[in-house]
Amino acid sequence: MNPPLVLVLNRLKAKRLYPQEVDGTWMALCPNHYDRHHRGRPTLVVRLSEDGSHVHIFCTKGCHTTLILTRLGLDWDALYTKCWRLKWKEVFSHIRKSHNK
Ligand SMILES: [Zn+2]
Repeated sequence: MNPPLVLVLNRLKAKRLYPQEVDGTWMALCPNHYDRHHRGRPTLVVRLSEDGSHVHIFCTKGCHTTLILTRLGLDWDALYTKCWRLKWKEVFSHIRKSHNK
């Protein structure tokens, strides 16, 4: 299985957010709001991008993905497979360079 996907699912399991697969998409409890509202109702959608380069993760109740990742102890980097991470580093350094002009 895709390493970033395994990582995300393992974190969800460790936090007892019960990821469940339905046709290649995982539903889990949202780590950002499940304990305060919507208790027990899975709103977090986790799935692999079509090209397999990264993991999509979002809450159908609109929680910011950065907050969700923070709660899971992850960052955006963790969602990308290795070759894509390198690619993004190139893109970001390019953007930074053009900003500093
Ligand atoms: Zn949420």
